[in-house]
Amino acid sequence: MKFCQHCAGPVSHVIPQGDDRQRHYCPACDVVFYQNPRNVVGAVPVSEDGRVLLCKRGIEPRHGKWTLPAGFMENGESTHAGAVRETMEEAGARIELGDSTLYTLFNLPQINQVYLLFRANILEANLGFTEETLETKLCAESAVPWDEIAFPVVRITLERYFRDREKQHFPVRMFDVTRNGRELDVRLISSSAPEAN
Ligand SMILES: [Zn+2]
Repeated sequence: MKFCQHCAGPVSHVIPQGDDRQRHYCPACDVVFYQNPRNVVGAVPVSEDGRVLLCKRGIEPRHGKWTLPAGFMENGESTHAGAVRETMEEAGARIELGDSTLYTLFNLPQINQVYLLFRANILEANLGFTEETLETKLCAESAVPWDEIAFPVVRITLERYFRDREKQHFPVRMFDVTRNGRELDVRLISSSAPEAN
């Protein structure tokens, strides 16, 4: 951020009184601009026959790669309502969270994002495309394009989902994901049930 959102004047960096880090500040408006992490909310939408709905991305980043429906949470919205909305927008599917619930939470401190993914039942899916998606499809585990998954958080969630489903037990898990050069470091921080592996 170089210019003020209000007056378009140049912003400077200051540590406001009582704060402990540098913020963008417009001296003309006397306004501090805080920047905080953003929540990405999404779903693992599952059909009655147990297949998972995946979307082929029609937008950057990772155009042409496959993902679960997810996107930035809006103001005035709850996390789970955001997951339902994003699934309609990106996958054209109506879902219910029902007794399903929060499934995976990912902290991505290096890109200032938090991912919250919910398990969901598909009520109605119009397979095809949307404004953001080239193609949607329902995938059994063997049909998941594992080498073409857009984001590590999606791959980790899908791997966990198919493993958990064998036991019909879906603990809520929180991960920290960081990148060191090309190395991805994924740490399981907590789980609502003891981990067998
Ligand atoms: Zn200003």
